Amino acid sequence: RAKADIARAVCFYERSMDEIVRARRNLASELREALEANQLDIHYQVQTSISTGEIRGYEALLRWEHPQRGFIAPAEFIPLAEENGLILQMGEWILRTACARAASWEPPYKVAVNLSPVQFVHTDLPKLVADVLAETGLAPERLELELTESTIFADRERSLYMLGQIKALGVNIALDDFGTGYSSLDTLRAFPFDKIKLDRSFMSEVESSPQAKAIIRAVLALGKSLDIPVLAEGIETHGQLALLTSEGCDEAQGYLLGRPAPLQQIITSGQLTLAGGDVSGQAVVTVR
Ligand code: C2E
Ligand code: MG
Ligand code: MG
Ligand code: MG
Repeated sequence: RAKADIARAVCFYERSMDEIVRARRNLASELREALEANQLDIHYQVQTSISTGEIRGYEALLRWEHPQRGFIAPAEFIPLAEENGLILQMGEWILRTACARAASWEPPYKVAVNLSPVQFVHTDLPKLVADVLAETGLAPERLELELTESTIFADRERSLYMLGQIKALGVNIALDDFGTGYSSLDTLRAFPFDKIKLDRSFMSEVESSPQAKAIIRAVLALGKSLDIPVLAEGIETHGQLALLTSEGCDEAQGYLLGRPAPLQQIITSGQLTLAGGDVSGQAVVTVR
């Protein structure tokens, strides 16, 4: 009887594994179609200076609204795109689109674009970035590229070389999700980052866990001594913001300051206004 149960369980397991694999394959091909049909979208989330409250820029975040399934989170579809190489085409699309839009924002607002480790391995990134800047006319200092420690971990020599080339263009480099990856301190020593983004997992515990608070303090001290500004991700409450303010954090990003939203919505909310009063979203965009 136990044997039969196990056999049934194994059979069920194999069938469900099979279904998972098939579902993933379907989703991957639907993602390719969505990209080609121009159905992917970009939402923007504000990044704010803590001391002055000024807007520093916006992070561009990929969005996929599936016609049947509705919203699918990047955490679900980006790994798929990384597996099948689609991330290269997708990464190029978001970089080009985000830069083209930001080129018509009023300076000095920046646009931050996330890079996948796969792009570092399979793309001539410095050339792509240089080409996109030339095409769109965006000033290099208004572009910030975000990468995580896992990117550098994947191929250290190659990624550090590429980052050096990209930085030489005048583009900013931010270390994303700091504190969750490998060999954090060594990564900081090896490359002159323009910003450290402290992972939001610390923020969710900051008010309850002395350990999380101690780590935040230590990272802020590290940023100060290395002369690298620190941005706190995932600020959701006034308490968190007050704490980060009193600890001397430089910038903040999170639902409290603004949720990721379509550009048009940011414009309508008054954070962004269009030059000439055009509300079609196609015209020149001015950030105020
Ligand atoms: P990330 O780069 O660390 O982006 C920040 C994520 O935190 C976003 O999730 C954002 O919506 C979320 N977030 C912001 N503020 C808060 C908050 O106060 N509370 C909570 N709970 N979450 C907050 P999202 O948009 O789901 O993106 C997840 C990840 O997917 C990103 O993490 C990034 O690693 C990746 N991703 C998104 N767009 C792209 C892209 O264009 N290219 C690549 N390679 N990766 C991307
Ligand atoms: Mg990011
Ligand atoms: Mg992050
Ligand atoms: Mg993240």
